[in-house]
Amino acid sequence: MKYKIPLFNLNFNEDEEKAVIETLRSKWISMGSQTIQFEKEFAQLMGSKYALATSNCTVALHLAMIICGVDKDTEVICPSLTFVATVNAINYVGAKPVFADIESCENLTISPNDIKSKINKKTKAIVVMHYAGYSCQMEEIKNIAYENNLLIIEDSCHAPLAEFNGQKLGSIGDFGCFSFFSNKNISTGEGGMIITDNKKYYERAKLLRSHGMTSLSYDRSRGHSFNYNVTEPGYNYRIDDIRSSIGLAQLKKIKVDINKRELIRNHYIKSLANINEIIIPFKNHTDKSSNYIFPIVLKNSNSKIRDQVRVYLANDGIETSIHYPPVHKFSFYNQGDNLPVTDYVADNLITLPMYGNLSIEDVTTVTKSLKNAIISCQNKY
Ligand SMILES: *Cc1c(COP(=O)(O)O)cnc(C)c1O
Repeated sequence: MKYKIPLFNLNFNEDEEKAVIETLRSKWISMGSQTIQFEKEFAQLMGSKYALATSNCTVALHLAMIICGVDKDTEVICPSLTFVATVNAINYVGAKPVFADIESCENLTISPNDIKSKINKKTKAIVVMHYAGYSCQMEEIKNIAYENNLLIIEDSCHAPLAEFNGQKLGSIGDFGCFSFFSNKNISTGEGGMIITDNKKYYERAKLLRSHGMTSLSYDRSRGHSFNYNVTEPGYNYRIDDIRSSIGLAQLKKIKVDINKRELIRNHYIKSLANINEIIIPFKNHTDKSSNYIFPIVLKNSNSKIRDQVRVYLANDGIETSIHYPPVHKFSFYNQGDNLPVTDYVADNLITLPMYGNLSIEDVTTVTKSLKNAIISCQNKY
């Protein structure tokens, strides 16, 4: 089914096409100069010392886990209301993910109080996820980490250029991990980035990204080194220059795109103001957001009503989604965790269309359809 108003739209034009053609014609298509430039510009944008591009964010999270010393004898506290990759990465190193609830229906990020209640002797790290591009409560979380000697990994997939107290998200904890999957703010098809201020962490991540080899083919082709050693068994988690060149084109557009998203969000908020049956999460958030997605939560509702509302919108040609089915309910992860706020939100959340080129008329169309959908569905239940 082709939707009149899709959930997301790629922010691509001739710039990305040109970048790809230039890379192809340069005849160096694997990791090389484009990737080095992409990393450099990304680190500058984030105000972080080091950035390392990877094939996606899932592997960036995996590297962060390894370097933090997370292993089979440790536990990592994480949200359940996130994409499953956040939690899978904890499993890759044999550690136990421990789910913490989210703060409230207004703030869908991990609750600092619930983090505190889940710390024990085995806890090694906290993974935070800046939902929709809105900062977690980083002051409280940093204090908890400091008092308990825990590392912080920021899953910043939703949050490029978003901030907490003027600091870029991803640059606050020990590691920040980003995704450039097609539907993210920055798209390269597949792709990721890991940022850190710690030189040792960066160097280890660089080794592990390419088999544990002490030099890359690119270095050897430029005569920078003739041979290499392997100091530990690494992976092939590399990106390629075709994707990195797309990433460079995307970085030139990201600020404008985020400003447009902010205007769209403001229009949504005005337009939705007279629908009393919904909560708009992060409505009073003051820090800069990247507005990766626009979620709403239905009040006094349940998953059946929510699903009906989504069907109604779909019949009007409007694509919606659910970010996310909570991880603790997937069969592999289900251990009967008690996360009441996550459970309510996951059952009653709808992600509405959001992208830089969404028109004001489209926002009005979505709002009208949502209003009718709620009236229609409430009459049924
Ligand atoms: C997209 C996403 C990921 C995974 O990123 P990939 O690049 O697809 O591996 C992880 N966490 C969150 C919150 C995401 O949105």
